[in-house]
Amino acid sequence: MPTTTMEQDIVATPQLAAQWARVRGRLQQEFGEVEYRTWLRQMTLVGLDGDEITVHLPTRFLRDWVRSRYGDRITALWHEENPDVRRVDIRFGPSTGAISGAEDGRAEDLSTPPAELPPMAPPLPIGRSRERAGEPRSELNAGLDPRFTFEGFVVGKPNEFAYACARRVAEQPSSAGFNPLFLYGGVGLGKTHLMHAIAWELLARERNGAWPVSVAYMSAEKFMYRFITALRSQATLEFKEQHRSVDVLMVDDLQFLIGKDNTQEEFFHTFNALVDAGKQIVVSADKSPSDMQGLEDRLRTRLSCGMVADLHSTTFELRMSILQAKAQRAGVPVPDKVMEFLAHKITSNVRELEGALNRLIAQANLFGRPVTLDATQEILHDILKAYERRVTIDEIQRKVAEHYNMRLTDMYSARRARNVARPRQVAMYLAKQLTSRSLPEIGRKFGNRDHTTVMHAVSRVGQLIEVDPSFAEDVELLRRMLEGGAGALQ
Ligand code: ADP
Ligand code: MG
Repeated sequence: MPTTTMEQDIVATPQLAAQWARVRGRLQQEFGEVEYRTWLRQMTLVGLDGDEITVHLPTRFLRDWVRSRYGDRITALWHEENPDVRRVDIRFGPSTGAISGAEDGRAEDLSTPPAELPPMAPPLPIGRSRERAGEPRSELNAGLDPRFTFEGFVVGKPNEFAYACARRVAEQPSSAGFNPLFLYGGVGLGKTHLMHAIAWELLARERNGAWPVSVAYMSAEKFMYRFITALRSQATLEFKEQHRSVDVLMVDDLQFLIGKDNTQEEFFHTFNALVDAGKQIVVSADKSPSDMQGLEDRLRTRLSCGMVADLHSTTFELRMSILQAKAQRAGVPVPDKVMEFLAHKITSNVRELEGALNRLIAQANLFGRPVTLDATQEILHDILKAYERRVTIDEIQRKVAEHYNMRLTDMYSARRARNVARPRQVAMYLAKQLTSRSLPEIGRKFGNRDHTTVMHAVSRVGQLIEVDPSFAEDVELLRRMLEGGAGALQ
């Protein structure tokens, strides 16, 4: 695998730095901004010695945490970037400054490839052909995240169709109507997870002797790097052969090819060759084929020929199920109230949601600190702040009505039954607390009530909070949810 050129490249610091930047970029993409900032940002690269990369972290605690939780992944990503790297030593040590990722807290923007492309790892065909070539299985799976299996995927309304399609392809690749399978949806909704799950499933079947399949999974970005590298080294024939000889080709984040005309063209030919030969293609993108402006028409057309499955934004229920599944797997008790709070607050991206939960779990594991609503707010202070924004009285009314299961119109109605009056008082109290509206203004919003009514509500709720802890917790939860940000109010 490694050539002389590659070995020479490795000792050159800029090459290593570029590889490191990409590894960090991938980590950031995979684990999300929150998790990356919390645990990984402070890693600095020390250097390469033989086949071992050394990375420093500034505390022992961070070192242990990163080692145990991310070590394998970091090694795998390094190996993908640079096949000569087989081990990554994560140590407690000072920041090396020169090749650090910590300066501005962001890894390089992956949407723009560096002008000078370092040599890339060979593709990741997993299956018989490589196995016969004597490659140990673990390396063949290096790019696939072991957590991304069908079993680890929580199915709910927003993703059940995409899940079913992925299952179907994994069980019966190249079946009519499912080729290509085009998965699309917003960031962090599970596209990559489903693609890896397909690969794992095919691998498991193969191991059970079901049928021999070779699977290649790569990002569109990687496809391009490989193609360009092949062009540069005049190895396009090998490139074509390699990519057209697999049974299942999966290319993730196809939107990356927009504007990359040559690579698009090559992908189109690869695509046709494979489909004509009865092989399965799976691609993912952030948009549907018809919305992929900038992608050649003929490619768009071919992409929509098979099955197009949309991963919709998550619902509150799905977010709760995901949190429950992940907390259970981690074996850390997380109270429902905390999960509800997170599921209400962090709505856009499962990766962020997971990152937040992991942070709570880490605190629980490392410091034996029970996960409470208070601890959550403290630990996630920085993330939650990012979700903060102005709250309106309308939103307060909506949220409170929803929470107490009453009709929104009863916020303005004259009804005085306790099950209506109490939530209304809570809403008034929160309006006073969370907005800058005056008592008369608030009164007007609640069916033209007098400002003294609002005043009474505010003091009554205040008293109840003092004497009734469960009521207090309810109000607190509502307050935090309302402060939580746009997505919190579905
Ligand atoms: P995408 O590729 O769509 O941006 P990913 O597949 O990388 O998103 O998912 C982001 C993270 O969220 C991953 O850690 C993934 O395991 C997790 N995730 C997303 N959807 C689900 C789900 N339905 N069940 C369990 N985990 C999920
Ligand atoms: Mg993805």
